[in-house]
Amino acid sequence: MRDYRKFYIDGEWTDPAIARQIDVINPATEEVAGIISMGSAGDADRAVMAARKAFPSFSQVSRADRIELLQNILAEYQKRYPEIAAAITEEMGAPGWLAQQAQAAIGVGHLMTGIEVLKNYKFEELRGSTLITHEAIGVCAFITPWNWPINQIACKVVPAIATGCTMVLKPSEIAPFSAVLWAEVMHSAGVPAGVFNLVNGDGPTVGAALSSHPEVDMVSFTGSTRAGIEVARNAAPTVKRVHQELGGKSPNIILDDADLNVAVTGGIKSVMMNSGQSCNAPTRMLVPSAKMAQAKEYARAAAEATTVGSPDGNAAIGPVVSETQWNKIQDLIQKGIDEGATLVSGGTGRPEGLERGYYVKPTIFADVTNDMTIAREEIFGPVLAMLPYETEEQAIAIGNDTVYGLAAYVQGDPEHARKVARQLRAGQVNINNAAGDMMAPFGGYKQSGNGREWGDFAFHDFLETKAIIGWGAAEAAE
Ligand code: NAD
Repeated sequence: MRDYRKFYIDGEWTDPAIARQIDVINPATEEVAGIISMGSAGDADRAVMAARKAFPSFSQVSRADRIELLQNILAEYQKRYPEIAAAITEEMGAPGWLAQQAQAAIGVGHLMTGIEVLKNYKFEELRGSTLITHEAIGVCAFITPWNWPINQIACKVVPAIATGCTMVLKPSEIAPFSAVLWAEVMHSAGVPAGVFNLVNGDGPTVGAALSSHPEVDMVSFTGSTRAGIEVARNAAPTVKRVHQELGGKSPNIILDDADLNVAVTGGIKSVMMNSGQSCNAPTRMLVPSAKMAQAKEYARAAAEATTVGSPDGNAAIGPVVSETQWNKIQDLIQKGIDEGATLVSGGTGRPEGLERGYYVKPTIFADVTNDMTIAREEIFGPVLAMLPYETEEQAIAIGNDTVYGLAAYVQGDPEHARKVARQLRAGQVNINNAAGDMMAPFGGYKQSGNGREWGDFAFHDFLETKAIIGWGAAEAAE
C-alpha cells in the first residue's frame, strides 16, 4: 500500500493544510493500492507562492546549467524507470509491457528531445536595432489526466524547465502515483527548491484554485473538453495564458487503394491500445461502402485476436481505469446497439473469466452513421465505430464533421493519402500507421484545444516575447 499523503512544496515533502485523504484503486483488482491527500486552495496557494519566489533566480539560470539540470533529471528518471512503470500499471491498469515500452518510456523521450531542442533554441534575435527576446513566462500550473500520466507530466515539465519557468503540478487524483515518483526524481536531480511543486487534489478544488490564482501566469491543462472550458473560465479574470489539450474523435480514412486487411487490422490495433484510453485514438474508421462487408470480417478477426487480461501477463489490453469509466463505456456500447449500429464483435458486460477488475470487451460497431452517439462522443474505451462512405469528398466531410480536431489517420497509396491529409482539420495526421515522431507538434484544432506540445513547438507556450527597441547593433546574447 502506497502512502502518498504528503505534497512536494518548496523542495520539501510537507503535510496538507487540512487532513483529507482518498483511496486510489487498482483497476485490475478493484483493491485499494494507496492513499493520497486531497489538497485545498490553501495548499495550492502555498505551492504557487513557492514557485513565485523561485522564479526570479531560476529564470536567469544559464542555458548550459538548464541543460545540465535536464540531464540530471534524465539520469535520475532512468534509475527509477522500472518503479515508475510499475506505478503506472497500478494506478491506471496499463499492461506491464505497455507501461515499460510506452507509458514510462515516453518520459525518457520528452527529456531527451527537450535537451536536444534546448541546445540550439533561438531565444533572441536582432532585427535592425530592435532586440526580440523570448523569456520565461513565469509561474505555470499543470493539470493532467490519468490516461498517459507520465507523458502528460513530462511534456509540460520538460519545456518549462528548459525555458526557465517554475511550476505547480496537480496530477489526476485517479492516477497520482507516478506523479509522486516524478517529484522524487526532480528532488534527487537537484531541481532548486520551489521550481517544481506537487499538490494532489481534485479539479473543482485544487484545479480551480490554480486556474484562477493571480500569481499563476500560465495554465497548461490536459483532460476533457468539459473541464478545459472550466479552466479557461477560471483563468479569464486574471488574463493568464491558457494552453488546452482536450478530447478527440479522430477519423481513420481507409482509401479505396489501401491494403484493406493491413489498414483495418492496424486501425484496430491502434484504437485498442491502452484499452482505447488515448485522446488521439482512431475511433472512427471510414471504409468505402463497397468494401464494408470484407472490412467487417477483417475487423472481427482483429478484435477477437485482441487479448484482454491482467496487466501482469502478455494480454494486449488491461482494464479501463475506473468503475465510473467502465459504466460510461457500457452505456455508450448500449447506445450504439439501441441506435441501430451493427455489433460486429464484443458488446456489453465483462469478458469471460474476468469477473474482477474493470475489463471491457474489445468492441466493434459497423454501419455506423456520423450522427449516432458512438460516432460523436468520446468513448475512451476499446470501442471502434466503422462508418461507410461513397466518395472521397464524402469521407473527408465525415472525417471533419466533429467538434474535435486532435488527430486524423489516412491509409492508402502515399500520394493519394497526402492529398487527403492536407484536407483534414486536425493537429496531427498520420499516414499509413507511421511510427510516432517525438519532435512533431501535438495538439488540436477546434474543441480539441489550442497550442502545441512536444519537440521545439512545446517551448513556445512557455515564453513571452519582448521587443527592446533601440537596443543598437550589439549582438543578441543567445
Ligand atoms: P478530466 O477532464 O476529468 O480530468 C483531467 C484533469 O483535470 C484532472 O487532473 C482533474 O482533476 C482536473 N479537473 C477536473 N475538473 C476540473 C476543473 N473544473 N478545474 C480544473 N481542473 C479540473 O479528464 P480525464 O478523465 O482525467 O482524462 C480523459 C480526458 O483527457 C479525455 O477527454 C481525453 O481525450 C483527454 N486527453 C487529452 C489529451 C490531449 O493531449 N489532447 C491527452 C490525454 C487525454
